Amino acid sequence: MVDFGTVYLVATGAALLLALGVGLRVLVGIFRDGRERSRKRREGEIDRYTEDPVYDRDPPDPDADGGTPSTCPQCGAENESEFTYCHECAAPLGPGG
Ligand SMILES: [Zn+2]
Repeated sequence: MVDFGTVYLVATGAALLLALGVGLRVLVGIFRDGRERSRKRREGEIDRYTEDPVYDRDPPDPDADGGTPSTCPQCGAENESEFTYCHECAAPLGPGG
């Protein structure tokens, strides 16, 4: 006759293995799903989760009005961009240089 201890041990071991197998399968499923999703995203099958409007915006143009100082073509002095004439030698600061 099989004693109770052995039956209990076998039953517990089987349950443990079953739980381990199920847990492992779930983990592998999650891992595989994540890889599949990233692959699809890379191939453009599904849209990105978030579309950052910052990326769509153009970078600030350094030649645009405002901010950037213009160098005098005559003496090389730095003038504010809104200046039309150099503050050092009064030479005209054309947009073309
Ligand atoms: Zn100047």
